[in-house]
Amino acid sequence: MSSFLHDRVDSDAILEDIRSIVEIESPSRNVAGVNRVLEAIEKFFEGTGAVCERLPTTAALGDILRVRCDPTRSEAGILVLSHMDTVHPVGTLAGKLPYRRDGDKVYGPGIYDMKGGLTIAVAAYRRITQARRRTPLPITFLLTPDEEVSSPASRGVIENEARRHRYVLVTEPARDGGRIVTARKGVGVFVIRTQGRPAHAGGNPDLGRNAILAAAEIALAIETLNDRARGITTNVGLIEGGTARNTVAEHCTMEVDLRFCDRASAREMEARIMALKSSRPDIETIVTGKITRPPFARDRGVDLVFERAAEIAREIGFALESVPLVGGGSDGNFTVAMGIPTLDGLGVDGDGAHTNHEHLLFSSIEPRTRLLQGLMERLQ
Ligand SMILES: [Zn+2]
Repeated sequence: MSSFLHDRVDSDAILEDIRSIVEIESPSRNVAGVNRVLEAIEKFFEGTGAVCERLPTTAALGDILRVRCDPTRSEAGILVLSHMDTVHPVGTLAGKLPYRRDGDKVYGPGIYDMKGGLTIAVAAYRRITQARRRTPLPITFLLTPDEEVSSPASRGVIENEARRHRYVLVTEPARDGGRIVTARKGVGVFVIRTQGRPAHAGGNPDLGRNAILAAAEIALAIETLNDRARGITTNVGLIEGGTARNTVAEHCTMEVDLRFCDRASAREMEARIMALKSSRPDIETIVTGKITRPPFARDRGVDLVFERAAEIAREIGFALESVPLVGGGSDGNFTVAMGIPTLDGLGVDGDGAHTNHEHLLFSSIEPRTRLLQGLMERLQ
């Protein structure tokens, strides 16, 4: 019985659910917004028999929602991993990126990354419960509040939960025409502070030691660490320093992003970044930071679960492909590093993640919902 092929998918109803949570703005640091999304998602599970638990994190972040769909079963099952936060600041919905539909494209903050994928996964599960079917493996959903800031509060919970499961399905967006993600780069995050000496820029310029110039020198050194052939990228993405135009800057701070493909490059690059310092006199350089996500490397477990997904997609009527390597990290990086078969990019298709043209493709709701349902009903 290929049930997930025959039950009608009500994409309009699913889109209404997506809309209801897209219209609650939830940037990572907005605790109230993220928690309102959480409460809306709890309602999606009403009547399914699933047990929702809210796990507090820190005062600066929203809660985690853990949903045990089969609370009486204790065998290792399927963990569905989604995040509720977005990168879009409050005001985006009323400003640059209102919810709107234009043909097949439906726009809104976080609609593609990943409120769409999150909602279709819940919809897939609800379809199973409405048909009163039981999945071969118990299912747990874990919805986190901080993925877009590298999951500082959720990482431990994700790893603990993943340990109890046989598979992890991540509802990050699909890529390049519905492709799935089977490899992602790892991520490192660093803060570099330079400290000099303030002085009046007109009266006593020679007494000053300019922390901004020192940071500029280091920024150029970071640029030379890029190594495209090895898939290593570095980026100085934020810089802040000084107190006034006519004062030699005492302090400067930069934030640096690092991406890499394997653990050896991670260790090497981390050491090189931690060792950076200014060659200018009387400047103190303080580097802090770490690798926040290990690389998501395609292994045998990932291959096997991808093969299962490709078979299901063929039954549904489309060819499932994977993208070679994605530069952005996800919470799937943690679970792959633990050796747990993980599929990522199972969410909706679309484009423009993190931009003001972020959208999903309405036509992707049906096949992607079926694919998730097929995985829930077939993985064992
Ligand atoms: Zn995401």
